[in-house]
Amino acid sequence: MAQFALTTQQIEDLRRLLVREERQLQATLDRQLHTEGHDRTTVAGRSDADWSTANAEADGLLGRAERDARELSNVAAALAKLDDDSYGVCEDCGEAIGYTRLLAYPAARRCLPCQQKFEARHGH
Ligand SMILES: [Zn+2]
Repeated sequence: MAQFALTTQQIEDLRRLLVREERQLQATLDRQLHTEGHDRTTVAGRSDADWSTANAEADGLLGRAERDARELSNVAAALAKLDDDSYGVCEDCGEAIGYTRLLAYPAARRCLPCQQKFEARHGH
């Protein structure tokens, strides 16, 4: 890892951030899934109008849960990389992602230029 200029201390800091983020995302997901199930049981027997509102709310919830689940898999992938010493390397160009960017976003899979290219390709 020395060639990517991350010290052992920096790696430990980032690992702590990732572990904390993983726990938070898991807790959020658990809560969202629980809430969604709760909504479904309480809307039973309401009018069609109530149903469509409930469905729209469930869609919003699912969208958030999907985003959180994706984020959680990014965090898990980053933790796995920490264990096999490939953490902090851009998946696209193989260059160092950089400690500053990792500190802001520990689950980053790409360096900033590659991330910007990726997002431009995917229309974000
Ligand atoms: Zn890159």
